[in-house]
Amino acid sequence: MRYDDSPPPPESAASVSPDPPWYARRSTLAVAVAALAPTALAGWVLTQVLTGSGPGGQPPQPKALPASHTAGAGAGDAKSSTTTPSPAAPASASTSASAPAAPSKGPLAGRTVVIDPGHNTGNFKHTSEIDRQVDIGTNRKECDTTGTTTNSGYMEAEFTLDVSRRTRTLLESKGAKVVFTHDADRPWGPCIDERARIGNEAKADAVVSVHADGVSAGNRGFHIILPATVKGGAADTSKIVGPSRDLGERIAGNFARSTGSAPANYLGSGTGLVVRDDLGGLNLSTRPKVFIECGNMRDAKDAAQLTSPEWRQKAAEGITNGIVGFLGG
Ligand code: ZN
Repeated sequence: MRYDDSPPPPESAASVSPDPPWYARRSTLAVAVAALAPTALAGWVLTQVLTGSGPGGQPPQPKALPASHTAGAGAGDAKSSTTTPSPAAPASASTSASAPAAPSKGPLAGRTVVIDPGHNTGNFKHTSEIDRQVDIGTNRKECDTTGTTTNSGYMEAEFTLDVSRRTRTLLESKGAKVVFTHDADRPWGPCIDERARIGNEAKADAVVSVHADGVSAGNRGFHIILPATVKGGAADTSKIVGPSRDLGERIAGNFARSTGSAPANYLGSGTGLVVRDDLGGLNLSTRPKVFIECGNMRDAKDAAQLTSPEWRQKAAEGITNGIVGFLGG
């Protein structure tokens, strides 16, 4: 959601960027996909629909064996959980999606990405905790907010966690170490200052905070929120403004391609990019970081997408491809 009612600051930074706009860029993935014969693409899309999974290259177990995935590390494959482990058994690289920090291969090997699922489904029951003010360097602000919902009650916090988990699976398949700010493993929060601190302490190469907006119907599309240059207290974004813009532009381009969604029609002047100086999660970050508002939960057409698992998979693919592009994978 939009955190407050004040309009975003003027996007003065947009006019000084020497980089081409995100929509002028072509990722290698996009070129590769474009080169595919239409029949092959159709087959890929069909596979997407049938399996609900991402493009090829993933280890097979997360989609094929969801039980072992949710059971956590050590479940091994599906053969038998009663088999006595042998020294050779842990070699099963296919469990890497849930195994801790095994050496990995892929374009993101050695990279750390922090994913921040916006809000928490428990925040509604902990309003006093999340309403307390925290220091964001330039100001004081609520610890966290409840987030929005669709008109039918699908919570933004459910959406953000689902997209974040899908993104984690994709990033891990490319070799990244992925750290979450929370994983529905705590009753509320974390506070926005802690969310920023998790990215900083992980020395993340990129941080993405996943959200969906909650504005009036008719407002549609996605946008990326970039950090403004701020300095005050613990906040100093001078070193991350540039790389965060690069990260944001790459995610915007890939998200549009992957989901077919358009940049927001209600802010950002059609670029899908907005600069803000009032978000603690950005102001306190020392690592390249953006927020993505994937769509408007209060618009029926956007909500139909946001509530679709297939669309959320495409959203995760767009975010992932943007991160890969940013990190040079
Ligand atoms: Zn939000």
